[in-house]
Amino acid sequence: MFLGILFFNLSQKSKAKETHHCPKCDSTNVVEQDHQTTNSRTVIPNGGGSPGGGDVRLQLDMKLFLRCKNCGNGFQKQTTRTY
Ligand SMILES: [Zn+2]
Repeated sequence: MFLGILFFNLSQKSKAKETHHCPKCDSTNVVEQDHQTTNSRTVIPNGGGSPGGGDVRLQLDMKLFLRCKNCGNGFQKQTTRTY
């Protein structure tokens, strides 16, 4: 679970396109119907030795409300987005 979220963050360079898997039929034909911010914080990435700083990011814990267009299953998913 935690590793999944971590991998998700690492693989997500931008907030552009996210792929969700339906837990029922494993389809990726999933649409986000709504989302809710459950927590927010600012983080300062420690980029191994790069000076300068000032790179403060906003990190949001979100609950996504998703629906599978393949089988019609509605489900929720927790995610963390960094801006
Ligand atoms: Zn499905």
